[in-house]
Amino acid sequence: MRCPFCAHEDSQVKDSRPSEDGAAIRRRRQCEACGARFTTFERVQLRDLTVVKKTGEREPFDREKLARSIAIACRKRDVSPERIDRLVSSVQRQLETRGDEVKASEIGEAVMDGLKAIDHVAYIRFASVYKDFSEPGHFAEIAETVGEEAKSEDPAPASPEGQGPPDRLL
Ligand SMILES: [Zn+2]
Repeated sequence: MRCPFCAHEDSQVKDSRPSEDGAAIRRRRQCEACGARFTTFERVQLRDLTVVKKTGEREPFDREKLARSIAIACRKRDVSPERIDRLVSSVQRQLETRGDEVKASEIGEAVMDGLKAIDHVAYIRFASVYKDFSEPGHFAEIAETVGEEAKSEDPAPASPEGQGPPDRLL
């Protein structure tokens, strides 16, 4: 594996262990030239997925890009990088069973399904970016759905006039 720091062609594997519940092998490597350490992951890939965008443009599925967009949605939330990696792997496996080409919208839906069960704030953030602010109706719909789920755990009814003491504090 080439060193990402100095581009030297060889690196030594220092440590190798299962990761993501056995779905991946994580290897710690050290560059023989500059001594820099870095990590690589070995994962099963069933297919070379192609993503078809809304515009009809095609591009190769990029796992790292997907992981980054999920990580942004999870910023400052209590979601570990390992949890994000497992979500990405699970989304990738779902997509691989569908064929060689997947629509960008299918990826978005699969990620939202996963995030919904992990962290509702991350879910709303991802949904808002994915649905695109040019479609505010969608964002409102999703924010409402999540709001209703949160309310169902909180039995205090809202006062019809929107005033009066908040029941939940009594
Ligand atoms: Zn190096």
